[in-house]
Amino acid sequence: MSALLELREVRAGYGGITALHGLSLSVAAGQVVALLGPNGAGKTTTLKVAAGVHPVEAGRLLMGGRDVTGANPRDLARAGVCLIPEGRGVFPNLSVRDNLLMMTFTGRSREEVEEVAFARFPILARRASQAAGTMSGGEQQMLALARGLATDPAVLLLDELSMGLAPLIVAELYEQVAEIARQGVAVLVVEQFAAAVLDIADHAAVLVRGRIERHGDPDEALRAELSDLYLGSA
Ligand code: ATP
Repeated sequence: MSALLELREVRAGYGGITALHGLSLSVAAGQVVALLGPNGAGKTTTLKVAAGVHPVEAGRLLMGGRDVTGANPRDLARAGVCLIPEGRGVFPNLSVRDNLLMMTFTGRSREEVEEVAFARFPILARRASQAAGTMSGGEQQMLALARGLATDPAVLLLDELSMGLAPLIVAELYEQVAEIARQGVAVLVVEQFAAAVLDIADHAAVLVRGRIERHGDPDEALRAELSDLYLGSA
């Protein structure tokens, strides 16, 4: 499978701190790749590099085989990269409908944006006039995903989708993420805790202190390694 998004030996950091030490990772269209690892491993930095909001110090960023290293976030967004940051990024005081309305900057009409959103997450139609901040965490995450889908992404970058949500809700959200991937989107998911995303991931990588320690099928061996890591014995 050819990669839609590829990071090739990327080094990135903050001043004197190196957060990523030559990280290589690729995601093909239709694939879900999970990037897992403890606090401070460099997961968010990886997503920021992929979205062009954090600079690459060495190495390459490629989209569809094209070198886009150094491209700005707007160009990458135009090329189809969509980052859904940790904490969801919805506007809490605006209604669901107005949160979606803002996405018409993409050129889609209000009807089109709502149709895509409500087809994927029917509950949002029932919540249309409710202030986003008064919805449950899971519903807010659905709204964040719906806003992302309005950009018609080729690459979807998800940061800690499960944060603060009950396991059942997380599993439901990941089912939708899997469905989005099945429609041809390349999905890169970052999570600290693994279980739910491993159920839908095609490939998983474990990041520790800016280096990929292991990658492969999200199988039992990888799950065991992750639990060792979180128990502190790795
Ligand atoms: P978390 O799950 O805690 O968000 P993470 O795996 O996403 O962790 P990053 O946020 O990418 O990790 O951080 C990687 C490293 O870079 C950490 O050592 C962190 O302290 C450092 N770092 C991140 N952001 C900054 C910043 N703005 N300034 C300085 N150092 C930073």
